[in-house]
Amino acid sequence: MSHFKAPPKKSLGQHFLTDRSYIDKIVLAVNPQPGDRLVEIGPGQGAITLPLLRKHGELTAIEFDRDLITPLMESSEGVGRLTIIHKDVLAVDFTKLAAGEDKLRLVGNLPYNLSSPILFHAIEHAAVIRDMVFMLQKEVVDRMAAEPGSKVYGRLSVMLQAYCAVTPLFVVPPGAFRPPPKVDSAVVRLIPRDPDSIGVQAPQRFTEVVRAAFGQRRKTLRNALSSVCNVEQIEAAGLRPDARAEQVEVAGFIRLANLPPTE
Ligand code: SAM
Repeated sequence: MSHFKAPPKKSLGQHFLTDRSYIDKIVLAVNPQPGDRLVEIGPGQGAITLPLLRKHGELTAIEFDRDLITPLMESSEGVGRLTIIHKDVLAVDFTKLAAGEDKLRLVGNLPYNLSSPILFHAIEHAAVIRDMVFMLQKEVVDRMAAEPGSKVYGRLSVMLQAYCAVTPLFVVPPGAFRPPPKVDSAVVRLIPRDPDSIGVQAPQRFTEVVRAAFGQRRKTLRNALSSVCNVEQIEAAGLRPDARAEQVEVAGFIRLANLPPTE
């Protein structure tokens, strides 16, 4: 008998995964090993939580919907040790959660309306995250993994690829969920880079430069970046002032953001 009575909430992006074969593929992608610290974002009715718990014996889950907490705890009885943090994931300090011990492995079929904020929140804590296996709208995964020159290469691609290796894994059709979303989904793996190899010296400046560059993506760098740097700096970073942001590789943005500010 199911412990879950409340109908899915659209406002919380609740599309519950029901297709066993995709659940198995996600568990396989996570492939938990003894000692791993698994943290799931948005466990919902436990589609991924319970199989992971069965395999690993222990897991922390962050869920915002109060109606799901008790049924989820009940479902986990006798399966493994489940700790639920009843909170908005954007208010969870992963660095505190890691508490200076082993790095966290994040997993989640993310609420699609919050997927970008969750990704940006996670990269702020990249130093305490070993890897992430996330399901998102396929369109978002395409943008995350896009390369320069692609129509969908943008702020999300540059910000994520600067801090993580991004690997799309597989596509999941709407029919795998209840209720089905309107669009295809995809699972992606993100592995934070070694902090010493990232090369971003001033994260805030980097964020500012990338935001400006793609804020007006039709414009040349000279124009789009006029409020944050001048033509000499663009050239000093080895970039062409008449290029557009969508043609600039991640390393180019890093070089530009690392230049000393002008007066
Ligand atoms: N993991 C389940 C599955 O695969 O069936 C549910 C996935 S559902 C797409 C997204 C889940 O995230 C829901 O359980 C929803 O309540 C939860 N959620 C939505 N907003 C959240 C937030 N801000 N913080 C934490 N969880 C949230």
